[in-house]
Amino acid sequence: MGKRIVIALGGNALGNNYQEQREAVRNTAKAIVDLAAEGHEVIVAHGNGPQVGMIQKAMTALHKQEPDKYTLCPLSICCAMSQGYIGHDLQIAIRDELARREIAKEVSTVLTHVVVDRADPAFQNPTKPIGTYVSREEADRLIAERGFTYAEDAGRGLRRVVPSPQPASIVELPAIRDLVQAGQIVIACGGGGIPVVRTEEGNLEGVEAIIDKDFASCRLAQELEADFLVILTAVEKVAIHFGTPQEKWLDSMTPDEARTYIAEGHFAPGSMLPKVEAALQFAESGQGRSALITLLEKAKDGIQGKTGTRIGS
Ligand code: ADP
Ligand code: MG
Repeated sequence: MGKRIVIALGGNALGNNYQEQREAVRNTAKAIVDLAAEGHEVIVAHGNGPQVGMIQKAMTALHKQEPDKYTLCPLSICCAMSQGYIGHDLQIAIRDELARREIAKEVSTVLTHVVVDRADPAFQNPTKPIGTYVSREEADRLIAERGFTYAEDAGRGLRRVVPSPQPASIVELPAIRDLVQAGQIVIACGGGGIPVVRTEEGNLEGVEAIIDKDFASCRLAQELEADFLVILTAVEKVAIHFGTPQEKWLDSMTPDEARTYIAEGHFAPGSMLPKVEAALQFAESGQGRSALITLLEKAKDGIQGKTGTRIGS
């Protein structure tokens, strides 16, 4: 029986620059079409770290060259650009792969806005490092001129940090749902979604933030009442005691085990921790729901229960 599956693609599914992306999306498209070919409904969300970094760097350089002609580009706009840049490439790669296998299916990318709450504590405590390292002088200037926040990043220098609020709701959800129900493969919530807040007048306004793509994918999977949240990343399974002699790769975790391992600090913040937290949240959001963390190339095997780490009861 076909299942409804939300896939969250990690950095290795898309590469670090355009050349890498063109190569990477071909493999990624194969993994996605493998699932569609098995009769599953597939919704694809993805990260955008290197891509949004590249776009922001280019827009900042342009502003530095001609400040009167080009204002600095807000982060939400850079995120919107990255959704188009990635969606275009991925959508074409999936389309080509479907044609190669003679599967009659449409693919669409939905430019997706995700509403966050102004009162989210993340706005008081920005933690997500973005962009290049800067000198103390440059940081001080940007703090004064633009109100940016800078923090020491792993002893390598100062980097801008931005809030990473929780996704509250997905603006284009009805459109995404209609496309899924029409049998399309849908790419949505790229880069965690374009972060927006609702103003007092009820309008939507872009904010300087980055929503974690694993949490946005979890939200999307819950809202679409998916059966499966599949987080595809650079490791085949999740480990406890990761990177130590006691390392143990896990085939599955019950929600209680996941909570215990989280509390014991087995998962690195900013990489594996949000994935396990998102997986846990999804697995507990409804009957019969489970999450899987595995490698891109293992998506099909993982869904068949052959590999990966499954979170659920
Ligand atoms: P993505 O781009 O897919 O979001 P990340 O680099 O953010 O990938 O997160 C995946 C990485 O998390 C893995 O490549 C691995 O190095 C790291 N990691 C940290 N803790 C663990 C753990 N306990 N088990 C497995 N991988 C872990
Ligand atoms: Mg990540």
